[in-house]
Formats: sequence, C-alpha cells, structure tokens
Amino acid sequence: MLRGRMMDMPLLISSLIRHADRCHGDVEIVSRSVEGPIHRYTYADVHRRARQLAQALTRLGVRAGDRIGTLAWNGYRHLELYYGVSGMGAVTHTVNPRLFPDQIVYIINHAEDRYVFFDLTFAPLVEKLAPQCPGVEGWVAMTDRAHLPQAKIPGIACYEELVGAERGDYDWPQLDEWTASGLCYTSGTTGNPKGTLYTHRSTVLHAYAASLPDVFNVSSRDVVLPVVPMFHVNSWGIAYVAPMNGAKLVLPGAGLDGKSLYELFEAEKVTVTAGVPTVWLALLAYVMEHGLRFSSLRRAVVGGSACPPAMIRTFAEYGVDCSHAWGMTEMSPLGTFGSLRGKHLGMPPEKQFEARVKQGRAIFGVEMNIVDGAGNELPRDGKAFGDLLVRGPWVTSGYFKGEGGEILRDGWFPTGDVATIDADGYMQITDRSKDVIKSGGEWISSIDLENIAVAHPAIAEAAAIGVAHPKWDERPLIVAVKKPNAEITREELLQFYEGKVAKWWVPDDVVFVASLPHTATGKLLKTQLRNEFKAHALPK
Ligand code: ADP
Repeated sequence: MLRGRMMDMPLLISSLIRHADRCHGDVEIVSRSVEGPIHRYTYADVHRRARQLAQALTRLGVRAGDRIGTLAWNGYRHLELYYGVSGMGAVTHTVNPRLFPDQIVYIINHAEDRYVFFDLTFAPLVEKLAPQCPGVEGWVAMTDRAHLPQAKIPGIACYEELVGAERGDYDWPQLDEWTASGLCYTSGTTGNPKGTLYTHRSTVLHAYAASLPDVFNVSSRDVVLPVVPMFHVNSWGIAYVAPMNGAKLVLPGAGLDGKSLYELFEAEKVTVTAGVPTVWLALLAYVMEHGLRFSSLRRAVVGGSACPPAMIRTFAEYGVDCSHAWGMTEMSPLGTFGSLRGKHLGMPPEKQFEARVKQGRAIFGVEMNIVDGAGNELPRDGKAFGDLLVRGPWVTSGYFKGEGGEILRDGWFPTGDVATIDADGYMQITDRSKDVIKSGGEWISSIDLENIAVAHPAIAEAAAIGVAHPKWDERPLIVAVKKPNAEITREELLQFYEGKVAKWWVPDDVVFVASLPHTATGKLLKTQLRNEFKAHALPK
C-alpha cells in the first residue's frame, strides 16, 4: 500500500464550536428562555461559556467518559452543555423529559449519570426522580441564583454560579475521534429503553452530511429554528449543523404551540425549520385560523413520523417547501431526505409530488437494502416491500452496555421499518413492522390508510390499526380526530377510500375520538390504541 500523506486530525465536536467562534463569532443564538424573556448572544459567547462549563465540570471531578444528563428544552444553556460536556471528553446524555418518570429513572440509572442538568420547568419532576437516582452526585438547575427553585432536591447547584466561577481559558483536549460524545435512549415502546452511544467522528460526519444541498442545505445566510427537541436525537443534528455553517440559530424553549412558534419565526426571520408532523398540524392550524402568512420561512423539514401528503400541499400553499426526512435514534438520525432530482424539474407538479411524498433518497454515507423474510434482496421497483436494512458511519453497531446483544445482521442494522425503494432510489416506508395490518396473509400499510384519512378536509388526525378478525386475521380500523367544527360521518369517511386503494384495503370501520395518544417523541402510540380497541366489534 502506498500510504497517503495527509494530516491525522481527529473529527471533534469542539472543532465545530471553535470554528463558529473564529469564523462566525458575531452570529446570533436567540433563545426563548424558560425564565421568560428572549435571550440573545453569539457563537463567540457559546464558545467561551462552553469552555467555562468544561472547567466547572473538571472542578466537580467529572472525567473523560463520564455521563452528564440533561433534562432541558432547546435553549442556549443546553447548547453550551452539548459543547462543554462532549468537548472535554465526557458524554452528553440527553434525557427525554416527556417519558414516564419510571422510564427516566431507569435511563438515568442505566447511564450512570454523575450530574444531571435541568431546566426550571422540570424542577417538580427532578424532585420526584432524585430519591430514586442515588448515583447522581448533583442536580444542576439551568438558571441563575435569583431563579433557583425552592424544590427539595439533594445536592442542587446553580448553573450560572458554576459557570460564572470559571475563566474560560480552557484548551479543548485532542481526543481520539472514536471517543463517545453523546448518549440518547430510544423511547422503547416495547421493553426497556436502549441507549445509542454516538462518537465525535459519527457526529461530525453526520453534521457534514446533514448540511448537504439535498439535505438541510443550511448556509451562513440561513436562520434555523429546530422545533425537534435537543433531547430527541440531538435535534436531528441541527445543534451541530448550525455552528458548522455559521447559521443563526433560534431555540424555541418550551413554546412549541402554533402561536409561540409563529411569532418567533416572524420576529427572527427564520428560513429553515424542522420537526415532527404533530407540531406542524398545530402551527398550520394557527396560521390558517388567523389568516397569516410566513414572510421569511422557505423550508420545513418533516420527520419522525410519515408526513401526510396533505401537509406538503398546505405548506406549499403558504410558499414553504416541505421536505420529508427519515431516520432514527440509532442513525444519528438522518438516513434519507426527500429532495427532488434534476429529472423531476421538467415534470408536472403532480409527478413531482409523487416523489416528494416518499421518505427520500439515501444520503451519501448511508446504504439501504430491502429484504424478504429469508434475507433475499428485493427489487428496487417501488412496489416490492420488505425489511429495511441500513449501514453507515453514523449508524449504531450495538446499544450502550451491550443491551439487546448482537443487533446487526451481516453487518447491517435492521431498522424495524418496512419499505419500498424505487428505480430513482426513493425509499418509502409502508409501515413499522409491528404496525402493518395483516389481512388474509397480505399486508396493508397503516401509513397509507392514515394519509388518505387526513387528506379529507374534515379530519385532523387519524390512526389505522389492525383489529382481530375471525376470517381475515386482522382488518383495518380508523381511529380519527375531526377538525374543530367539522362534521363527517363514518360512512362518508369510508366512501372517501373508494378508488384510492384496493377494495380489500378499505377499512372496515371508523371510530371518532377527541384526541389520539402520542409517544414521548410525537409518534402515534399504536400499542395503546391496539389495546383500547382490542375488543372492538367490526360491523359484519
Ligand atoms: P424512537 O425510536 O425513540 O421512537 P426514533 O426517532 O428513533 O424514535 O424513531 C425512528 C422511527 O420513526 C423510524 O424507524 C420510523 O419508523 C419512524 N420514522 C422516522 N421518520 C419517519 C418518516 N419520515 N416517515 C415515516 N416514519 C418515520
């Protein structure tokens, strides 16, 4: 082998914030703070405070490899933790505060977090958690002395005092790029949550990939507002992508309702945003109800659950390009992105739309395969569907502490999704393998049935689940939420399916409910629905 002669420079998270400071030091980070007011400062400030934080953690005795938990919204102090903790060689463990307290206790103990940093919102939660997490040496309230909560929390410390006591003259260590940098547990709808342990290398590579023009396409001229939480797969990488590219970052805190988001979009001239479909439902409803327009927003990225085609159309009516992204916690999370190819540009809008509603094409770095039950590769014809396997440098090779044992299949990670891939490389999820409706030995895609329901003007949200059937094994039931003041009958919704799917795909029944249950990451909680409607009597 002729060995090349390039420098051996590790890919490190600290380089991202150092670069942002040097090259975009005056670019703003705007946060809706938990204390109330809007907070503004710059990348230069983030870098200085992240180094102060690293010094404070060192003073507390935190060492390389230690896990530091966070229970926090998208805000500037959370961003400082992302860089301060990982930068010094410790592990930023973002905990999802929307999980059940029992799960949070399990996760903090399993991760062996030495310190947990929390936003004021979660003080009552921390009060309950603390006695059950004896390994945690201190709980740090992410606020100043004046706002310190009165809660009974052992070893409570004040973030601003810790950070304020340090000078910030800290040199980031030159870590091995394989050093663990972050930890994020999957919500675990079945079994205990399992941790995905990211590396500096995987995080930086993922940030490069996420920045590509066919992916987030974020530049120094953009203003990015991640609605996707920093506690859910690193805000899909945006907390790294923005500093890498010098984009202004707007962090919405706890204000995730339509009104708060809309006001922030407009005040800060946000150009790019990303989040799960349920957030956009609320935002679009608010905008419609008040007859508003977006003055700066160009692009909304939708992922986490299938984006209903109707949502792509509505965004388009408001001049916003709505792109589909797919991924998972185990993939850092990005796998595919639904941008158009050159060949689509000359096509009529309806043809383009067919490509846009799919989950998208593999981002360079991620390889995808679909296989049948015996592991044989299936044709990429947009019709054959099977288990979706992935591999790549930001895909997990196994869970933290070896939970779940060997999870790879011949070097591929089984996603648990069922999908098609078409000749142009567009992947489309037909279902989560545990959600497919199995009727007479054939599969019905619950996502397809849900998309049709929400395309009806009277339907706000819908879930399709399989209900036991004596002859067909399972038959589809739609559980739907009507839009406010809208009227629709069961028969009208069923009729709406005619001509849109094969006859045997048309659901057997519809139940209207006031609201649908969601998981802590915003997905429909189908396990609960299946349980609730287990005994539902389908009409003959
Ligand atoms: P968790 O596992 O914690 O619920 P993840 O975000 O890791 O959260 O979930 C990953 C799963 O979410 C994927 O395997 C897929 O089923 C679903 N998903 C993510 N993005 C999309 C999308 N754009 N369309 C359909 N399903 C999606």
